[in-house]
Amino acid sequence: MIERICPKCKVPMNGDNCVNPKCGHATEMASTIYWCDECNIPIYEKECPVCGNEGRYLSTDLRPVFPEENMLVSLLITGNPFEYQKSSVWYGSNAYIIDGQKIKFSVGKENAKPLDEIKAIKAAYDEASKSLDYKYFEQSVSLFVKANADRYNYITEEAINFIQQYLNKYTIEDMMVSFSGGKDSTVTSHLVNRALGTNRILHVFGDTTLEFPYTLEYKKRFNKNEESQGVRILTAKNREKNFENLCEVVGPPSRVMRWCCTVFKTGAIQKTIASAFKDKNNILSFQGIRHNESASRSKYERESESPKISKQTVAAPIIDWTDFDVWLYILTTGIDFNEAYRLGWTRVGCWCCPNNGAWSEFLSKVHMYEQYVHWHDMLVEFAKQIGKPDPEDYVAEGGWKARQGGNGLAAAQTSIVAFEPCATDESAFNYDLQRPITDC
Ligand SMILES: [Zn+2]
Repeated sequence: MIERICPKCKVPMNGDNCVNPKCGHATEMASTIYWCDECNIPIYEKECPVCGNEGRYLSTDLRPVFPEENMLVSLLITGNPFEYQKSSVWYGSNAYIIDGQKIKFSVGKENAKPLDEIKAIKAAYDEASKSLDYKYFEQSVSLFVKANADRYNYITEEAINFIQQYLNKYTIEDMMVSFSGGKDSTVTSHLVNRALGTNRILHVFGDTTLEFPYTLEYKKRFNKNEESQGVRILTAKNREKNFENLCEVVGPPSRVMRWCCTVFKTGAIQKTIASAFKDKNNILSFQGIRHNESASRSKYERESESPKISKQTVAAPIIDWTDFDVWLYILTTGIDFNEAYRLGWTRVGCWCCPNNGAWSEFLSKVHMYEQYVHWHDMLVEFAKQIGKPDPEDYVAEGGWKARQGGNGLAAAQTSIVAFEPCATDESAFNYDLQRPITDC
């Protein structure tokens, strides 16, 4: 049995719990974050390393709120987009935390506003954002980085050691990084390049065709950035099928029928990897999977055989990192990342995914208005087609996300097999529709 050392105070642990009574840290997915009232920042240690004050318990996890999101939230809460500009703003335990105080804010209420009202919010935001100022944010961040340097050093060193052990088993040519343009794969890529001392590891980017415009822009500048200069990125994309056309035939994807993941993601990535590594028997794929990302991912091991792609071992260097850790890494190293996070999105898969939350949907209305309206009209059209008495309400209340079957759809009622002919990976799509797809 391996002796476990508390990541917080470095004394041995009893199972998941630290035996040091002053620390009491539990290594679950969530950790304990404190707030230093003196420095006005979140801290990982109970005693603030900058000023020595004792922090008070704040939340189990935390993410920064960048000036762009700050501006929008200020506008929604107070009517003044600059209200919290000088404040230290974070998000944790389902609340905005402004200068250490949790603020009441109903995302559902905002998202339920009629589109013309949201259009007015967008106009006010766009105007205010011309005077966007990062000065106060940067002051907070530099103090935050300083106060949490021990935590940064610990998680970084640990992850780098984990990655380096693969050098005994694999050559650089047998390795790849699965790159989505999200924060977790950004950090994983950076750690892998650092640990292996090269930018030569192939990156595979799965383009679902429903990517945020910010993700595509980030991908474009990725191998020009100083930290990831020259990285080779292969784009995996299904160029034969079109999402909107498929929506017309089988209906939009819902939470239990996420056919889009198989057609536009898994299948395309499988093909690209198979052709890029066609002479290899065993490849190693570094992925940014994390336990606290979703319940379905909490069962993952740090190293596993890929269930989807044969002869592929998956290594997840940051599997136990919290959001706090990921952001601490990004803010400490100063590496570039996807702009969607600055605007307030917390995940950057497909922008219209039925699994996205109300805040994500609200942000789409504000920042991607035209695309949102187009998508909304498609959903209303679909609702009419399947005979919903009040199509607008069906869409507004998210009824399409909960859809269980192909009721009312001509194609689904006759036979899904009708548009099968190709016997490639995507044919899995035909029966994947019949059962829940829970993870992708
Ligand atoms: Zn302090």
